[in-house]
Amino acid sequence: ILANPDTAPPPRPALPPLRDVIARHGLSASKALGQNFLLDGQLLDRIARVPGPLAGERVYEVGPGPGGLTRALLGAGAQVVAVERDDRCLPALAELGDAFPDRLRVIAGDALAIDEAAEAGTGAHIVANLPYNVGTALLVRWLTAPVWPPFWASLTLMFQKEVAERIVAKTDDDAYGRLAILAQWRAKATLAFTVHRSAFVPPPKVMSAVVHLVPAPQPAGVAIGTIEALTAAAFGQRRKMLRQSLKAMPGALDALAVVGIDPARRAETLSVDEFVAVARAIDRARAAG
Ligand code: SAM
Repeated sequence: ILANPDTAPPPRPALPPLRDVIARHGLSASKALGQNFLLDGQLLDRIARVPGPLAGERVYEVGPGPGGLTRALLGAGAQVVAVERDDRCLPALAELGDAFPDRLRVIAGDALAIDEAAEAGTGAHIVANLPYNVGTALLVRWLTAPVWPPFWASLTLMFQKEVAERIVAKTDDDAYGRLAILAQWRAKATLAFTVHRSAFVPPPKVMSAVVHLVPAPQPAGVAIGTIEALTAAAFGQRRKMLRQSLKAMPGALDALAVVGIDPARRAETLSVDEFVAVARAIDRARAAG
């Protein structure tokens, strides 16, 4: 079978083993920066396949480190903009840029402090293996973007497995809560695969998993703030009936009645659509004065 020349990635240049790159540039993993590097080329290629074919696509990578995942993304034919906070990694990334001329732009800085929509441009796929605290903060930021559909076409993010499960959890799961509702309101969220802790150098204490999200169309008339306040109140007392947990939130109990949800139910039994319907009823009642 002949590869389609429009979508097939270009031939890959020969690159030195990642272990050599790390040793040559003295990139001992920094705990403070949450550095756990991936060196297995097959695993890195597998992560780079999660967003779909990348030939000719733009990718925004957060935290490239020594560039293992960056190699896989470039090898798949992507045009990559990468932001890295650790200046020690910049010479290794510059070498990688030389091997893929005009395909890699590296920004030295903090991903939490830059305007990534302007840097990456509309339609970029976001791919990252990040320290978990930074990853969750960025995920929430990307999901709560005020403009929808957002600038990103998809998110492919490595998380602690327990956090990944909270993102994709369904009604009645122990992991079902605020993060699941935010993620599944705004996106179609799937757990792509789990990654054993031994795949990282150094290995973290827990297992990891790659999560894939693509933006979902938004039902009109629901404010992010209302969803957040509603789920905070409901899951603040997740074992209590809604009539108790939502008592203090103005308009919430009336909205349950409007939507036809039994106030004797508990938060974890409500689907994402039901939360959205309650939030919409609260907003409508407020707008009506
Ligand atoms: N992508 C590489 C890999 O898969 O082997 C490195 C992953 S390592 C878990 C996380 C990387 O994110 C490190 O290179 C670290 O320096 C970088 N980093 C941590 N916090 C960051 C931030 N706020 N902004 C940009 N990069 C950050």
